Amino acid sequence: MAKVIVDHENCEAPECGECVDVCPMEILVLDGDQIKIQHPEECNECEVCMDVCPEECIEIN
Ligand code: SF4
Ligand code: SF4
Repeated sequence: MAKVIVDHENCEAPECGECVDVCPMEILVLDGDQIKIQHPEECNECEVCMDVCPEECIEIN
């Protein structure tokens, strides 16, 4: 199972939200002013979220 990790220190949510828009599995969601990870077991490891994140604060492993 993929592990989805967001570095909240460097994340620009809620102003950014790029990862929320691109994740095809709706794993990255905005919860208040922070990115929340939901049902990470459905992550297909496409890494699109990593590609679009301007702060390089998402890690998939
Ligand atoms: S790797 Fe793909 S499926 Fe997994 S959280 Fe990122 S965008 Fe979503
Ligand atoms: S793309 Fe990166 S900076 Fe933007 S909300 Fe997602 S994790 Fe935060």
